[in-house]
Amino acid sequence: MPAVKVPRREAEPVKRKLKKLGLYDGKRRPKREDGHVLLPVFDNPEIHRLGYEVLNVELPFRPERQIYKNLEGVLAERLSEEELKHLRRYDVIGDIAVIQIPPELEHRVDDIVWGLRKVHPFIRVVAKKGFHEGAFRIRDYSIIWGERRLETIHKENGVEIKVDLSRAFFNPRMKGERYRLAQLVRDGERILIPFAGVLPYALVIARYKKVKITAVELNEEAYKLGLENLELNRKRLKGEIEFIHGDVFEVLPELPTYDRVISPTPRGVDALALTLSKTGRWLHYYDFVHETEIRNFRGRILEECRRQGKECGVRIKKVSDFKPHVFKVCADVRIKG
Ligand code: SAH
Repeated sequence: MPAVKVPRREAEPVKRKLKKLGLYDGKRRPKREDGHVLLPVFDNPEIHRLGYEVLNVELPFRPERQIYKNLEGVLAERLSEEELKHLRRYDVIGDIAVIQIPPELEHRVDDIVWGLRKVHPFIRVVAKKGFHEGAFRIRDYSIIWGERRLETIHKENGVEIKVDLSRAFFNPRMKGERYRLAQLVRDGERILIPFAGVLPYALVIARYKKVKITAVELNEEAYKLGLENLELNRKRLKGEIEFIHGDVFEVLPELPTYDRVISPTPRGVDALALTLSKTGRWLHYYDFVHETEIRNFRGRILEECRRQGKECGVRIKKVSDFKPHVFKVCADVRIKG
């Protein structure tokens, strides 16, 4: 089978050009060879007219499933390049795929559903994510394909999490953060988790560490799902979880202090002073911060530490892109002494 041999730094542009001309054979893999790359091309006399060195080599076929490894790749068959640019990231939560569909792609909904099902054959629901968000951080979703439900069981970090996107907030993208925190925690700690939702942080930490967790959530629907999740994971958990239904700003003042407080603070809510006052050693405080404000955010935390007579070290970590120039960040605050 023919392949075009080009210097490595020309490989990308040449590949693009070959694709445009319909000569690039995407079913086979390119191969690197001492500073050059062999690009698979179709057996077509055209290629000899392009002025590249053409060899006859065996380049291995890509396994079928790799061709379909991402939605963009699959949809390239049906959407124009311009349309593909508008494609948003999507999530798979349990057997539900969730995607935002911008106005530019409204007329392509059926193709997007087709693509999602091709990439994730096991999904049973495709839901479109709206933009509006209330106090409980619940989005408006509409089901665009499949069973009429937004309830499912999501598996993450060794636990099962029952969620219902129409009733309570859940974000699968925080999986890495939950894992990170579970690693930081030591056996024996007493931990407070305000804004606990359906308990993803509490479950993941208690799954791996012998700790005592107190979690607080105001949305009754999230609270009920959280209780179900405790039951669902009962046998897996090393730690204990106490779950309180109530308003963080009313409940926390009544609670003692803890070794660690983890605050997945909802956007627009300021719980810094309150959560800091409840920790003796560590606070992990999540917030949404413009990239130019990260310094100020740090200053605000140090100022609050001083006000509370605490000597603190603060490390700020970008957790995810929230929107252009605005990050979800986590401040890891260590109280010295
Ligand atoms: N920790 C969860 C939820 C984070 S979203 C997770 O990561 O999935 C923030 C949560 O705080 C929502 O579930 C919302 O219902 C809850 N909430 C908002 N205001 C609250 C308050 N004043 N007291 C308690 N919970 C509150």
